[in-house]
Amino acid sequence: MSTPQIIPPGSTIGILGGGQLGRMTALAAARLGYRCLVYAPDEHSIAGDVAAGYVRGDYDDTDALARFARRVDVITYEFENVPEAAVVACLEHKPVRPGVTPIHVAQHRLREKQFFATLGIGTADYQPVRNEAELAAATALPGILKTCREGYDGKGQARVHDRASLEAAWERLGRRECILEALVDFRCEVSAIVARGLDGAMRCFPIGLNDHRDGILHTTTVPADLAAETLATAERFGLALAQGLDLVGLVALEMFVTQDGTVLANEMAPRPHNSGHWTIDACATSQFEQLVRAICGLPLGPVDVTAPSRMENLIGEEATDWLRYLADPSARLHLYGKASARPGRKMGHVTFVQPAASSRRSTT
Ligand code: AMP
Repeated sequence: MSTPQIIPPGSTIGILGGGQLGRMTALAAARLGYRCLVYAPDEHSIAGDVAAGYVRGDYDDTDALARFARRVDVITYEFENVPEAAVVACLEHKPVRPGVTPIHVAQHRLREKQFFATLGIGTADYQPVRNEAELAAATALPGILKTCREGYDGKGQARVHDRASLEAAWERLGRRECILEALVDFRCEVSAIVARGLDGAMRCFPIGLNDHRDGILHTTTVPADLAAETLATAERFGLALAQGLDLVGLVALEMFVTQDGTVLANEMAPRPHNSGHWTIDACATSQFEQLVRAICGLPLGPVDVTAPSRMENLIGEEATDWLRYLADPSARLHLYGKASARPGRKMGHVTFVQPAASSRRSTT
């Protein structure tokens, strides 16, 4: 096997997208001696705030993307809805990792489900609802009607109980391409985050146990207190996905664990994931550092849990409680520097790390 080409510290990483995932990637990259250049359409970027530079440009501005790409050594993206054409435009100049295929799959729920099936990854029963005929034929009730594109954190979806509510929901969602997914009676939700390097080596972070509120991730607890067999299946699905995508970078797979222990994939994201934020404070390598290692051709880092932990998202006004978290010795506070705390907006997170049993109180 030939040695993969290393992009050494001192090089510049381009990041498409300017939110908190880009911000935490830039912080991890800086620690390893890399510079980051962030590209996003917004006037202000919280990733740009902590990076070596910020380029404001639209995702359909191929000239601006080309100029950006020429200034960096490798490019990644921090959200899966970056237009495919933007990635293709960058690829003409520099490697983009994880590339086009992962976003092509992740941007469309039906395509994603079909891809899971090719890899032997189970999902809830579902039916496409793309037109009147498919609407009439859909039977997965009670269920959740989800738009195929641009749904996240519970947006672009509606719970439906019967034909009347299904038809009303499809109208409300703008008669767009949807899938009707059978409602899963799950015991819990978990996620696997897998890194795959340029040489094909893979590492799966310990499976996180996730709790959602109003469709938004609320907490992630690690280690997940679940049967070894369940954890092994979740990890196997994550690894199969990273391999199947021929990925260089990170992919997160969110899954349901049903009452009888069956693991069903919900959705994937080919980027760092909210359910992996605990890794910054309680894992030998953070997900953000692992992404940098993967895309720069460096060896992947160890993924051992260093302390049992629980990550809690700070949504909207919850972030104003920062003084309370600073006073808690078990809390590791992360604020994203967003200007306004709109309801539902992820403003930061806090990871509660269980103190080591042997740790002594300092007297100095
Ligand atoms: P999603 O936008 O698909 O990630 O869904 C957001 C959240 O809604 C999930 O994390 C679940 O808590 C819930 N959910 C989504 N799909 C289903 C389903 N088929 N059955 C039960 N709950 C679901």
